[in-house]
Amino acid sequence: MLQSSFDECRTVNYSSVDFLEIDGADGEGGGQILRSSLTLSMLTGRSIRISRVRAGRKRPGLLRQHLAAVEAAVQVSAATCRGAELGSRQLEFTPGPIQPGHVHCAIGTAGSATLVLQTILPVLAIADAPSTITLEGGTHNPWAPPYDFLTRAYLPQLERMGPTIVARLDRAGFYPAGGGRFAVDVIPATTLQGFDLLDRGLLRRQSITALVANLPASIGRREVDTAVRRLGWTRAATYVNDVDSTGPGNCVFAELEFERVTEIVTGFGRLGVPAERVAAEVVREVREFEKSSAAVGQHLADQLMLPLAISAWQNQGRSPGGRFRTLPLTQHSRTQIAVIRKFLDVDLDVVEEDEGTCIVRIQSNR
Ligand code: AMP
Repeated sequence: MLQSSFDECRTVNYSSVDFLEIDGADGEGGGQILRSSLTLSMLTGRSIRISRVRAGRKRPGLLRQHLAAVEAAVQVSAATCRGAELGSRQLEFTPGPIQPGHVHCAIGTAGSATLVLQTILPVLAIADAPSTITLEGGTHNPWAPPYDFLTRAYLPQLERMGPTIVARLDRAGFYPAGGGRFAVDVIPATTLQGFDLLDRGLLRRQSITALVANLPASIGRREVDTAVRRLGWTRAATYVNDVDSTGPGNCVFAELEFERVTEIVTGFGRLGVPAERVAAEVVREVREFEKSSAAVGQHLADQLMLPLAISAWQNQGRSPGGRFRTLPLTQHSRTQIAVIRKFLDVDLDVVEEDEGTCIVRIQSNR
């Protein structure tokens, strides 16, 4: 698919294309600028030229995971592009009309498949026909939304905006073996509704779950035991799940389900790091969230900005979009704000509150 689009590229007269210039080194300088720019390019129909791709990372340029995001965007928008090669530091991308339907993308490494999904889902969620997306690669990666975060924290908020989204995990994929696979059915909503998420609402349930693939279950048991003991949560809501995966892998996550939002905090097992330390990392992040009045955790914050901005952009004059209360903004969130402002003429502001939280507001400006 990607190759045929590259072949088409040769017939495009690039000197006449009016590119929106994106500096991939800005802010976080990682894959997020690339992915969000692809999403917003597909949404608005603007051609983009991204230079200094992932300049802020140890291994700059396009890795397999980022190429897969480009490939998925090419499939979804019949785009033409230049520079989509491993290691490439510059990418030119010209989207065509959105083409919902069957999308399949195999990353070929343990690169995050959930990040590839988040690149194309916002546009398929407002397309004029349903889609089924099948992705292969990593499903539980450090520095990316794990599948359980995607389905319990991110997708429910996106569904509040109108589309129906059903995900199913066939097989988990951990670094380094990968080999995970999941599918997502999307019934779009033509226009995304907005929402306010200023308070979590009452706590309904909290639990600790360890996922263990091809490793001793005792690793997961030590993680959940450490986490509940330190947090003072009930031992009854702990789970150690033996998951089907090609290679070995382990992560542990805390789930805090409130009336209006679910937060998932994940720690990843890695060689040479005791299970207790992995659990302690989760405990630290849970405590930070618990003691604040934020409704939206640090990762969900940058991920919700894009659908809210799309809602504001689609609802010019009627102002949907919305507001959420979150923890101090991460560099990912600040970068996301800058990328959105480059593409969309929406009102986006951040009000810092005394307790260290802040309110992000994204609305149409007319
Ligand atoms: P980048 O580092 O630029 O490729 O972007 C990584 C993306 O993954 C950002 O949207 C982060 O918020 C998200 N992310 C990283 N770690 C987690 C995590 N543990 N849970 C949920 N999302 C995450």
